[in-house]
Amino acid sequence: RAKALGRAGYKIFDTAMYIESTKLLQLETDLRRAVERQEFRIYYQPIVSLQTEKIIGFESLIRWQHPKQGLMLPTDFISMAEETGLIVPIGYWVLREACNQMHQWQQQFPQTQLTISVNLSSKQLSQSNFTEQIYLILQETKLDPSRLKLEMTESVLIENTQSATAILWQLKEIGIELHIDDFGTGYSSLSYLHRFPISTLKIDRSFIKNMDTNSSYAEIVRTIITLAHNLSIDVIAEGIETVLQLEQVKKLQCKYGQGYFFSQPATVSVASALIQQ
Ligand code: C2E
Ligand code: MG
Ligand code: MG
Ligand code: MG
Repeated sequence: RAKALGRAGYKIFDTAMYIESTKLLQLETDLRRAVERQEFRIYYQPIVSLQTEKIIGFESLIRWQHPKQGLMLPTDFISMAEETGLIVPIGYWVLREACNQMHQWQQQFPQTQLTISVNLSSKQLSQSNFTEQIYLILQETKLDPSRLKLEMTESVLIENTQSATAILWQLKEIGIELHIDDFGTGYSSLSYLHRFPISTLKIDRSFIKNMDTNSSYAEIVRTIITLAHNLSIDVIAEGIETVLQLEQVKKLQCKYGQGYFFSQPATVSVASALIQQ
């Protein structure tokens, strides 16, 4: 009896594994096709000055308009894109598209000095011709390099210390800034803060979220902001959702913020309307 159950258990397990691997295979096939068929979209989320609450720039956030599944979020497909290497062509597409859009906004709203922040994965940074590709994209899109910010997590820097150091200093030379994404969640070694030309830390939204209910989170946020400012590094608070959170980070001298309180990631037309306001 026990044996039979065990066998049945195996069967269920096998079936579940089979379904899971079939789904993954389908996702991979769809993802390859999506690159060719240009099924990706970019949403733009405002980054604001906390003093004026004016938009200073946008972060580009990828979406996948899947023909059957509808609009898919990065958590549904970015890790597959990284595992298969498809993140490299997808990443260049995002860079080109985002730079192109920012150049368009620059012409449409010449009185503004908006910037565009683009997220990068580890595999992109390990491409030997990454710097040249960035130069090419800036040339093609006619975007001023000082308008482009590259966002990376701490782990991306740690995984690519060798190549990243050279690449990021080269990019800094031409005016492209490096922003550390999800700061506080990754590596606790702070030694890399001076090894790389970091202009901005983006405090992870998990800290901001818990600030108003747990004072130790507020203390961590205060410490990060003090550390950053002592190193002449700017700070963006991610994931501001409430006026209370906004007031708290303002009190801690945080200069920039991003989050649903200001705006969700938006389409080009909604983002354009926000700039106009
Ligand atoms: P991220 O770079 O940390 O981006 C911020 C994420 O937080 C976005 O999720 C955004 O929609 C969400 N968010 C912003 N404000 C709030 C808020 O107030 N509350 C809450 N709960 N969430 C907020 P999204 O768009 O789903 O992107 C998730 C992650 O996917 C990004 O995290 C980034 O790591 C990655 N990603 C997005 N676009 C790209 C891309 O083009 N390339 C690569 N390599 N990764 C990307
Ligand atoms: Mg980001
Ligand atoms: Mg982040
Ligand atoms: Mg993140």
